[in-house]
Amino acid sequence: MKAIIAGAGIGGLATALSLHAVGITDITIYESVSELRPLGVGINLLPHAVRELTELGLSDELAALGVPTSTLSYFNCFGDLIWSEPRGLAAGYAWPQYSVHRGELQMLLRDAVEARLPGAIVLGSPVISTETKGARQLVRIRTRTGAGTGTGAEREEEADVVIAADGIHSAIRKQHYPDEGDPVWNGLMLWRGTARVKPFLDGRSMLMAGDGRQKFVAYPLTEADDDGLARINFIAEKRVEDDEPRPNNWNLAVDKQRIVDLFQDWQFEWIDIPSVIAAADEVLEYPMVDRNPVERWTFDQQTLLGDAAHAMYPIGSNGASQAIIDARTIANQLATADSIGAALGEYERIRLPITAQLTLSNRSLGPERVMQLAYERAPEGFADINDVVSAEELTAIADQYKRAAGFNPQLLNERPTLSVVRAAS
Ligand SMILES: Cc1cc2nc3c(=O)[nH]c(=O)nc-3n(C[C@H](O)[C@H](O)[C@H](O)COP(=O)(O)OP(=O)(O)OC[C@H]3O[C@@H](n4cnc5c(N)ncnc54)[C@H](O)[C@@H]3O)c2cc1C
Repeated sequence: MKAIIAGAGIGGLATALSLHAVGITDITIYESVSELRPLGVGINLLPHAVRELTELGLSDELAALGVPTSTLSYFNCFGDLIWSEPRGLAAGYAWPQYSVHRGELQMLLRDAVEARLPGAIVLGSPVISTETKGARQLVRIRTRTGAGTGTGAEREEEADVVIAADGIHSAIRKQHYPDEGDPVWNGLMLWRGTARVKPFLDGRSMLMAGDGRQKFVAYPLTEADDDGLARINFIAEKRVEDDEPRPNNWNLAVDKQRIVDLFQDWQFEWIDIPSVIAAADEVLEYPMVDRNPVERWTFDQQTLLGDAAHAMYPIGSNGASQAIIDARTIANQLATADSIGAALGEYERIRLPITAQLTLSNRSLGPERVMQLAYERAPEGFADINDVVSAEELTAIADQYKRAAGFNPQLLNERPTLSVVRAAS
């Protein structure tokens, strides 16, 4: 079976590793950028994704890369505690949760692909379009442009299966949904960065403070060094007044002082948020965008995966984690179903409703709804959260999201593996 994957992001690379693990080794990954660099800032890998990467044999590499998250705590904008829960092993999962640098995770996956499938990644070669030709798929690729600035020639290649992991601006999704337009923006702007500062709380916690209008999220990407400083990832977020269209560019740097000023009053006893932002190497702006769920990912023997299939808000730490689970599911199906068509159909049947529900849940704040409830009921703060939101309500919101996203501890620990012992052709 010849597989072509569009995109060497986290979804595409995890797909190549997953196909390799079930014995599908005739794989080419076409990636548009001419050099893979460790771009982005922090992401969290939830235990359901860590399980999949562990079963792909990457647990040691991951442990060396990430900080195991111990706790997730929500606060209001005055630093009053709303909700706190253990995470990863401390929460009873058989697998940890890791805070990692997105670009470093991508490099880890790239290195694993290069070791297991030498030559499979072809850079500087965007996939332009795909079409069905009899029982096969015809893929049009723009070839390497080399050092020149020309657009490069086009060439065609055939495959049995095409997996579009080409991100939120997917060319293949656009081919199937030509009228979809740009990603949908909700008016919130995100400013992301990393800074070497004094660790906060226990040095392994994720904090979220604020409400639906303005919010600050932070977690460590490293342990404290000899100087007592750790690299902290942060995301500062605020609803912006105008509704100008914003570029969806992951790497757009902006003046950080403007963001420091927005958070000037957010100084808690245990963390000084303006000085964390001020210490950032750079601050990257990104609008909170997603895409409306679609009815179909699979067209003949081609399908969508990761952000190309279900770009969602970065709420609840699920973007990369869901792409990794897609990858393992599609490989499991291709190794066990009667035909490629049946495998892709089953992959879509399993994954589309779950990710569509998550996308919509994230639009109504997902697990962060507790912060909005606390604000609505006590905008000036509170002495005891249980006077404002009951323990039952808080527990139910956290639990509902975990079930929807597939990381309820008991269900995840007991779920059969997606690994397939029998090798496919
Ligand atoms: C540069 C970059 C930085 C990011 N930074 C963050 C971050 O800081 N925080 C966060 O939460 N999320 C970030 N993301 C998004 C995050 O990686 C995804 O939400 C998640 O990991 C799902 O991954 P994906 O593989 O589906 O998409 P992506 O990680 O977006 O990967 C898609 C890949 O496809 C390539 N591509 C695009 N079009 C084509 C084409 N036509 N043909 C071939 N290849 C193509 C892209 O270059 C990219 O490598 C970033 C994405 C990128 C590309």
